[in-house]
Amino acid sequence: MVAEKAADSTKTNQENMDVLASTRTVIKTALEKLGYPEEVFELLKDPLRMMTVRIPVRMDDGSVKVFTGYRAQHNDAVGPTKGGIRFHPQVTENEIKALSIWMSLKAGIVDLPYGGAKGGIICDPREMSFRELEGLSRGYVRAISQIVGPTKDIPAPDVFTNSQIMAWMMDEYSRIDEFNSPGFITGKPIVLGGSHGRETATAKGVTIVLNEAAKKKGIAVEGARVIVQGFGNAGSYLSKFLHDAGAKVVGISDAYGALYDPEGLDIDYLLDRRDSFGTVTKLFNNTISNKELLEQECDIIVPAAVENQITNENAHKIKASIVVEAANGPTTMEATKILTKRDILLVPDVLASAGGVTVSYFEWVQNNQGYYWTEEEINQKLNAIMVKSFNTIYNTAETRRVDMRLAAYMVGARKMAEASRFRGWV
Ligand code: GLU
Repeated sequence: MVAEKAADSTKTNQENMDVLASTRTVIKTALEKLGYPEEVFELLKDPLRMMTVRIPVRMDDGSVKVFTGYRAQHNDAVGPTKGGIRFHPQVTENEIKALSIWMSLKAGIVDLPYGGAKGGIICDPREMSFRELEGLSRGYVRAISQIVGPTKDIPAPDVFTNSQIMAWMMDEYSRIDEFNSPGFITGKPIVLGGSHGRETATAKGVTIVLNEAAKKKGIAVEGARVIVQGFGNAGSYLSKFLHDAGAKVVGISDAYGALYDPEGLDIDYLLDRRDSFGTVTKLFNNTISNKELLEQECDIIVPAAVENQITNENAHKIKASIVVEAANGPTTMEATKILTKRDILLVPDVLASAGGVTVSYFEWVQNNQGYYWTEEEINQKLNAIMVKSFNTIYNTAETRRVDMRLAAYMVGARKMAEASRFRGWV
C-alpha cells in the first residue's frame, strides 16, 4: 500500500490560480475549434458544485485540530462524477477545481461513463499518526456524505492517500448508508472489493502510452534513458516496469531531492528502501535538486509528481525527445508551446495518467455486479483502452494540426458538451 504519486513542490496560490486559468484557456480553445458556442464554455469552465468542509479531529496529544477540505464535482452530464482525494499541505480551492476539470477530460478521453470530480484536504499526512489519519478520513466522509455515493460521485486515491484510507472511508460511508457499499469508493484493498491491478494501474497506463509514443518517435524503449520525477505510486511502479522492460532509468526523485546516474540506477534497491510516502533520496549524499534532474541528459522524461514542474524557465533546457505526463498538470501551457516548437512529443496528463481512473472504473463495475475479474483480464482491458485512446489523440493532433494536449482536450470536452446538449443544459 503506497501513497499515490507522492512527491512535493512548493506551490504558490498564484501557481494554483494559473493552473485553473490555463486549463480554462485550453478548454476555450478546444471548444472554439470544435465550433461550440460560448455558453458551452460558460458551463464547463467551473465545477457545477464545490463543497468546502471543516473537519474537527481529536489529535493524539488531546487537542482538537480543525482541517479544511474540498470536494469539487465538475460535470455530471455523462454520468456520476469520479476522482481522487489528495491529502497535502498545499491543497487549494482552485487546484481542486482544476483537478476536477481534468478528471472530466480524462474520463472523456478514455471513454468512461463518468464526469470528473476531485477532493482534497489541507493537511500533512507525513506528520500525522495512523489514528489521526483515520479520524480525518472518517470526518471528511461524514462531511461530504450528502453529495457522494456509488451512483453520484465516487472518490479514489490521489497524492498521499492510499488503500487504507479508502478502506476507512468506505467503512464510514457504509455505516452512514446502512449498506455495505464497496462501490462508494475505488482503490480499496483487494479483500474489501478492490480490483486486481488498481495499485499499479496509473504506472501501467503510463507505460503503455510511453511505448506508443516511443514507436512514433522511432525510439526503442529497451536501452532508452528515462528520467522519472517522483517516486510515489505512479513513479515507483513506473520505474520498475521500465527497468524490467530493459530501459535505463537514469534519474528518479522524491520530495527532498533527486538521483541521477547516466549508467542507470539500481531501481530494485531504491524500491526496497523507499518509505510509504515515496521518500528515498534522504539516504544518499550525492543528490541533486528536482529542478536540476529535469535538465539532465536522457531520451524520455516522465514527470510523476505534482503541478508546474516544466515551465517557461526550464522547457528550453529539456534534453528528452518525449515527455509523458504521469502527474496531473506538471507542464505549464507556455512550456507546452516551447516543447512542441522544439519537436518534443508531449503526451498530456489527461491521457497519460488515465490508467488509474480506468481501473477504478473496472473496480466500480466489479463492485456493482458482484463478480470479479482476474489481473490478466484487467490488464488486457486496460491495454486495449490506453492504446486506442493514445491513437485517437495522436491522430486528432495530426489531422487538426494541434499539439496532443489540445487534441486531448478536444476529445474530452466534446463528450461533455454533447452529453450536456442532449440533456438540454446548453
Ligand atoms: N487520482 C487519480 C487521478 O488523478 C485516480 C482517480 C480515480 O481513480 O478515480 O486520475
